This record gives sequence, structure tokens and C-alpha cells, in this order.
Amino acid sequence: MPNSACDVVVIGAGFAGVTAARDLTLEGHSVILLEGRDRVGGRTFTSEVFGRQMEFGGTYVHWTQPNVWRELQRHHIPLSLPLGIERVYWLADGMVHSGSQIEYDSAVSPLVARFFADARTRFPLPVDLSAVDNTAIEKETLGGRLDSLNLSAYDRDLLDGALSTLVHSYSEQGVAQMLLWAATAFGDWGAFLETAGFWPIKGGTKRLIDAILGESKADLRLSTPVSAIEDDGSSVVVTTRSGERIRARSAVVALPLNTLGDVAITPDVAQPVRTMIDHKHPMKTAKIWARVRGEIEPFCAFAPVGKNPVNTARVEHRHEDDTLVVCFASDASAIDAEDREGVQAALRTFVPDIDVLETAGHDWVGDDFSQGTWAHHRPGNLTQAAPQMREPHGRIHFAGGDIAPLGVGGIEGAMESGAGAARNIAAALADGRH
Ligand SMILES: Cc1cc2nc3c(=O)[nH]c(=O)nc-3n(C[C@H](O)[C@H](O)[C@H](O)COP(=O)(O)OP(=O)(O)OC[C@H]3O[C@@H](n4cnc5c(N)ncnc54)[C@H](O)[C@@H]3O)c2cc1C
Repeated sequence: MPNSACDVVVIGAGFAGVTAARDLTLEGHSVILLEGRDRVGGRTFTSEVFGRQMEFGGTYVHWTQPNVWRELQRHHIPLSLPLGIERVYWLADGMVHSGSQIEYDSAVSPLVARFFADARTRFPLPVDLSAVDNTAIEKETLGGRLDSLNLSAYDRDLLDGALSTLVHSYSEQGVAQMLLWAATAFGDWGAFLETAGFWPIKGGTKRLIDAILGESKADLRLSTPVSAIEDDGSSVVVTTRSGERIRARSAVVALPLNTLGDVAITPDVAQPVRTMIDHKHPMKTAKIWARVRGEIEPFCAFAPVGKNPVNTARVEHRHEDDTLVVCFASDASAIDAEDREGVQAALRTFVPDIDVLETAGHDWVGDDFSQGTWAHHRPGNLTQAAPQMREPHGRIHFAGGDIAPLGVGGIEGAMESGAGAARNIAAALADGRH
């Protein structure tokens, strides 16, 4: 016998699950929201370090993201102004080069333009991934695209470094997702990067998710990991790892793609979706904060994947006469966020006299409840398995930034897909399909 019952059980309290739970309760449905961790937010995580609040996971949003922007306005939450960058360093062909932002942009922009030249023809209508035949582009990896440009060693490293923030593995990531991202910003990769990587939320992502959760009447149960979900044809039964059973008319499964293999789903999902779950997405990157001595010149730095443990670094905040630098590592296993000297050595590749005082980060790859960072689809999955997974699987509706249509890989996508799942379920509950 189930221990409790409701209209909808939502599993996972990241932005997707919290948005779905809020929307469904505002429609008058009873919702139980199950979360494995002892906090909400998932791969966004605002926490205390260096004596101030910092973001360990997803951070940057933008006014061009409709779901995010609507919520920010609804809750009167502004964005923060990022620090202006005065110097750029880039590692290319074995040497570190430096210049102004304008000098760097003029060197890298023609290469970026070549990489993304077909973004708008591949995705002329980014809201409809089937608008054109994507079969060919869905076979191409990021590495295949890079090779096809036949660049000099210097230009290749320059371009590789510019992309590296969003790369773990050139051979495993499909080029289609990057082309789609560029297409959503009118084919302009620089514009996409600005929407994806510059503007933090004042008060942090926690402020936003708490505001959305505050509007929800869902029964939130933290520290309640789920082990099984079964649609028996007339209802859904969710079993937690501690053996509790919850019956509902339908379920939103808003879990990271890379954790879904740990949850028994009955009946099983279609084969392409099962393969995508089993193979996981390849993003095993790291985000590390470094507190460095003094108010140093605001810089950002880029290194090609595999050629420095820190691939992107950027001065982000001033703090108590020191400077806080955000670092992204393409390969989380190449650097330890707790290793101050290791992070300092990686930053000294670019700025030889930088003095790292403290470091901090969260191990998203080793974390049981994420098993990776943001999603980047393997070739084929963006336009095939992911859309299939967005279709209702009986009474089970999958959601999450990892399988989102337009905002794939980010907070916007999580909200977009959580809201979409809630709409589909509300319609099915209203007309008696669930
Ligand atoms: C380091 C890093 C930097 C990023 N930077 C950005 C950025 O700047 N901008 C941006 O837009 N995006 C960014 N992202 C991506 C963004 O954070 C995610 O795409 C988004 O938060 C995903 O939301 P979600 O709700 O789909 O999944 P999640 O936030 O992962 O939520 C899923 C929830 O499910 C829970 N869970 C897992 N397994 C179980 C289980 N068995 N039972 C119950 N609960 C379970 C998890 O604990 C989690 O709370 C970043 C991600 C990382 C890791």
C-alpha cells in the first residue's frame, strides 16, 4: 500500500522540478516534491565561502531568456553588473599571448564565425528542431568541425580556447548543440556567450528558486532520493530509497540525465532514450573559485582543452581588497578545487605573479545527484532522443535543462521544460487522460 497519495509527484527540486511543482499547485493540483539532497536548487548552488555568498553551479542568466526573465520580474529580482575586462590572455601554439578585449576579439572572431557559419541554416527556426533535416549535422562532433577548418596550430588553439569553457570532450560532444545555441542568438556565438555566461542574479540563484518555491503549495520532502517509478496504467507509484511508496495520477521526473540510470523506470523508456540515459552526457567539467591577493587588473584567460588544467578564468568580483576569479576546467579530473597550489599554478600559466589565497568548488562529477555538470548532447541526441524523451511516457513526464528544447544545458531550459511538463499534465488531468 502506498504511504501517501497526490495528483502529481514531482521528482527533483532543481529549477525544472520547482517550476513544475509551483505551476501545478497554482492550478489547484496537489503535489508532492521529492528531492534527494537536503536543499533545493540542484546544479545551482548559492553557498557561503570567503565570507560571502558565491555560486558553485549555474549562475548566469539573461533578459533574452523568456522563462527566467518572467520569473525575475515577477519576484522583483535584478541582475548584477559584471566587472569590465581590461586584459585577455590566450595560450596558443605553446605561448601565452595577451591583448585588450578588442585585440582578442578581432583575432578570434573570424575563426568563431567560420566554426558557426552554418548555425542559422542548420537551425533556421530554433524553436522547431525538425524544421530541416538534421541527419548530417547530427553525426558531426565538435572535434570533427574543428578539424574540418584546417587551421594553423596557432589559430586552432585560439579557437579551441575560446570554445573550451563549454567543452569537456571534442570527440564526444555533438556540434549540433553549439550550432543551436548560436542560432538562438541570431547565429552570433559572441551574443550567445553573453546571454549564457555574464550576468549573475543579484542575491544569487537561491534567491530566485526560493521565490518560485515560496509561491508553491507543494509538499516538499528533502533528503528523499527516489529509486523507482512505475506507471501501472491507472496511476504512478514512486518508491523512495528508504522504501516509502507514493501514488499519484502522474509524475514529473526532473532529474539530471546522468542520474536517471540509477532509477528503475517501468515500463522502460523507448530504446533511443534508454541508450541516451545509459551513455550519459559527457560533461565532466569543473567550476572553481579562487580568491587572489589584491585588486588585480580584471582579466580573462583561455587555454585549449588538455593544454592547461584551467581552461577559462575571469575576474568576477572585488572582495575585501582582494579579487575573486572564476575558473572553468574542461576536465574536472585534471584539477582539485581544494588544491590551492594547483589552482595557482594553473592560473600562473597566464598571470605569472598571481597569488592565490583560497579556493573553493563543488565536485559535480562525483556528486551522486548530478554525476556531471550541464548537459551537452552526444551526436544524434539533440534532435532525436531528447525530443522523444520530452513526449509523455504514459503518465510519466520527463523534464529538465538537460533535455530542454531551446535552453538546453541551462537554467532557462530547466524552467522551460518544467513549465512545459506542468502544462501537459494539467491538460491531461483536466480532460481525464491522467
Ligand atoms: C558548474 C556549473 C555551472 C553552470 N553554469 C550555468 C550558467 O551560468 N547558466 C545556466 O543557465 N546554466 C548553468 N549551468 C547549468 C544549470 O545549472 C542546469 O542546467 C540547471 O540548473 C538544471 O536544472 P534541472 O532542474 O534540470 O536539474 P538539477 O538542477 O540538477 O535538479 C535535479 C534535482 O534532482 C535531484 N535528484 C537527483 N537524483 C535524485 C533522485 N534519485 N531522487 C530525488 N532527487 C534526485 C538533484 O539533487 C537535483 O536537486 C551550470 C551547471 C553547473 C554544474
